[in-house]
Amino acid sequence: MQKRKYVIVLGSLMSGLGKGILSSSLAKILQSKGYRVVPIKFDGYLNVDCGTMNPFRHGEVFVLDDGTECDMDFGTYERFLNIDISGKASITGGKLFSRLIEKERKGGFLGRDVQIVPHLTDEIKNWVKAVGEDAKADVVFVEVGGTVGDLENGYFIEAMRQFAHEEGEGNVLFVQLTYVPSLSVGEQKSKPTQHANRLIQSMGISPKIIICRQQEPLTRDIKEKISMFCSVPIENVFDDPALETIYELPIALEKQKISQVLLKELGLEGKDEDLKEWRATVERIKNAKKEITVAICGKYTAVKDAYVSVKEAAVHAGAHHNVKVKIEWVETSDIEDKKVSAKELLKGADAVIVPGGFGSRGTEGKIEVAKYCRENGVPYLGLCFGLQMQVIEYARNVCGMAGANTTEIDEKTKYPVIDFLPEQRKIKDKGATMRLGAYECIVKKGTKAHEAYGTDKISERHRHRYEVNNDFVETLEKNGLVISGKSPAGDIVEMVEWKDSFGVSTQAHPELKSRLERPAPLFVALLKAAIERKK
Ligand code: GLN
Repeated sequence: MQKRKYVIVLGSLMSGLGKGILSSSLAKILQSKGYRVVPIKFDGYLNVDCGTMNPFRHGEVFVLDDGTECDMDFGTYERFLNIDISGKASITGGKLFSRLIEKERKGGFLGRDVQIVPHLTDEIKNWVKAVGEDAKADVVFVEVGGTVGDLENGYFIEAMRQFAHEEGEGNVLFVQLTYVPSLSVGEQKSKPTQHANRLIQSMGISPKIIICRQQEPLTRDIKEKISMFCSVPIENVFDDPALETIYELPIALEKQKISQVLLKELGLEGKDEDLKEWRATVERIKNAKKEITVAICGKYTAVKDAYVSVKEAAVHAGAHHNVKVKIEWVETSDIEDKKVSAKELLKGADAVIVPGGFGSRGTEGKIEVAKYCRENGVPYLGLCFGLQMQVIEYARNVCGMAGANTTEIDEKTKYPVIDFLPEQRKIKDKGATMRLGAYECIVKKGTKAHEAYGTDKISERHRHRYEVNNDFVETLEKNGLVISGKSPAGDIVEMVEWKDSFGVSTQAHPELKSRLERPAPLFVALLKAAIERKK
């Protein structure tokens, strides 16, 4: 067997250059050449995981099958690579230090002072190797979070330097992502990249591929300069242009023949596969004639990253139906504060999504949104909190339970139609304690949910503490709400829907499993309903 190869992606100069999308694209390109790939991301923060972070600060919390709450880049990896990633692929400062300290307390280092080098760096190297081994990967892609020069990722970069030395020439490839500004049209500047490259070299690492975000395509001149000052062949300097859709990046890089350089640097053979299907799907995203407007109604709409999986799942479903998806962000606290009505905000929407959420701000607005959709036949998809809002609206306005609510917001409500999951009552810790990860659900035949999935048993990812209160299920059903999915034991309501129009909700987060090559069934069904209604 070929020796396992590693590609390490380092961000230089500044954050926000799109390391996650780049790492995913590089991995996609090698995957398309027939290699088995696995991504790893290192995050320097001391949180163990992203579970306790605010989407405003950190973007969406992504959840894996095994329940790991991780950085949203994992969503990008899965959406590009169409593989299920293990939580072990998320290495954080918090996880590393807790492991090390735990080991020390158990006497794992008796007689020694525990140090960053070699103890922490050894831990990192072993971890990276183990992920590659578990995944039986041909090529492991490691994205180093943050920017070179940060205090937070310094020990990780040092571990990768040692790793490259130990694995031997040609087995570990460093890629530098950088930015090439233009002072005016045609006046591109390579100096920032040169300095950043020197900083990396001073750490004992020589990037072999340099990828440049830019404002305009790199000139031959600037490529020559970067090549000369950073000691890489000119063919190893690449443009990372601004694109209409992120899914185009593998194509844009492959146009510059990056796979040849990757394969050569890693000493791998090229295989015949290519990105044919991928290309066709990207073409559909770019060239679709019809447009469908999807309103995403939440409270973090000021930061688009907070709902990135929801948005991308809508894009995947659009590509499936050959329609362009236009997203409208609806801030539900504006409805709640009576600044504007749901009717006004949703007048252009062909479909509505109420995504996951926590806490009270904006919830009355979300309930208004559900009511508007039910009364006007606008296709509605509720995701987790969106299901809970749909149930509350139904209880209040159809079943006559005035003031019905979730106990997350109103502990004293007369009608607690949404309440704690029983096992959640005794939990005090906040980290990784929700009902997390993949759970099965039995879908009821003859429902819209069943039509969407086309099967009785499904599995989706979860992240919640509350559920539909079983004490109210009978009344809700009697009044016409369809319970379309339940947990295999029958004790948790997993899906509900309206009888008369498309209003399907799930306690899960199907957006987390949507991929460009495998769109989420409920999003496909939502768009189908929207397209039919628009006709
Ligand atoms: N806050 C709700 C709960 O904990 C919904 C969570 C979510 O939407 N992810 O159940």
